[in-house]
Amino acid sequence: MRAVYKSGPVEGFDYRDDAPARGPVPAGHVRIAVAAASVCGTDNAIHKFSPAAQAFNLRLPVIVGHEGSGTVVEVGPGVNALAVGDRVAMDSHIPCLQCYQCSIGSPHICENMLLLGLHVDGLFAEEAIVPVSATFKLPGDFPLDEAALLEPAGVAMHGLQELGRSVLGKRVLVVGGGPVGLFAAELSRIGGAAKVVVVEPNAFRREFAESLGVSTLAPGEGVADALRAMSADRGGFDVAFEASGHPSGLVTILDALRVGGAVVTLGFSSTPHPLDVSEHLNRKAITMKGSFGRLLWQTWDDISVLIAEGRLELGKFITHRVGLSQIDEAIALLTQDSCKVLVVPELDA
Ligand SMILES: [Zn+2]
Ligand SMILES: [Zn+2]
Repeated sequence: MRAVYKSGPVEGFDYRDDAPARGPVPAGHVRIAVAAASVCGTDNAIHKFSPAAQAFNLRLPVIVGHEGSGTVVEVGPGVNALAVGDRVAMDSHIPCLQCYQCSIGSPHICENMLLLGLHVDGLFAEEAIVPVSATFKLPGDFPLDEAALLEPAGVAMHGLQELGRSVLGKRVLVVGGGPVGLFAAELSRIGGAAKVVVVEPNAFRREFAESLGVSTLAPGEGVADALRAMSADRGGFDVAFEASGHPSGLVTILDALRVGGAVVTLGFSSTPHPLDVSEHLNRKAITMKGSFGRLLWQTWDDISVLIAEGRLELGKFITHRVGLSQIDEAIALLTQDSCKVLVVPELDA
């Protein structure tokens, strides 16, 4: 079969059209014919074998790809929840279901988490074998292309859930206009935010954000003043999402939030953030919350209902579709003018 591997601890991926067929399907697992898998910043880090990727302790060689959808073509022993023909999306996180966090109902922060496409063969392939516990059965005629975006959009959705307060009537600041930042902006808009501002250096992404109906600013000199002017009546923004992973992102946010404001951090930084606890957290009484992954399965359920009811359209975030053999182009697109890039195995045929 066709598949994309991270073969060893060096830069690059290996596309193979003679990858061995996977199998047999173990108990509690299903075989998926992959319909689409989206490419994300983590894939770029794995491709470059950057320090951020090395920190994941990859199990190599591994078939990469961790955001995707497909159709069940075979079920392993003991599987009752899924049947051949069911359409599913995959959560990239495979919890152990045995540790303390799993035992108290928080498998999304499992202490022994394995990640699809990093530790377990993933979704940049014609077929994948995944545990049933990492699948989300899609409702109705849910489009498989959009389903491949549920995992990354779920990161933003979970961010709004972790915020712990409503965005209705609030001004929302999003730093970082990559896919997760844009999803956070769109979900805030849908959630009734009075104003949403995205700070992003790439002009294409700013234009994309504006097409969603939100305001944008390029980072740099003058941003702090511009943000202050937009929220002067309340002394700052009510809530914010850090989705850039850039060390300056949190500084921008903590300066722009009003007293009593709240921020959820979604972006992963490869360097530590400087933080003035007295000035930024204590005196301003800011609530800062980290968010990891998606709630299993509340985040998935809520976001898929938003889509099913026509409130959220993920398809418009897909800017490119490529075959598995074009994986290097897909990776290059991540740092160019793009939003979500889908790898579609069918395009190689
Ligand atoms: Zn990802
Ligand atoms: Zn666990």
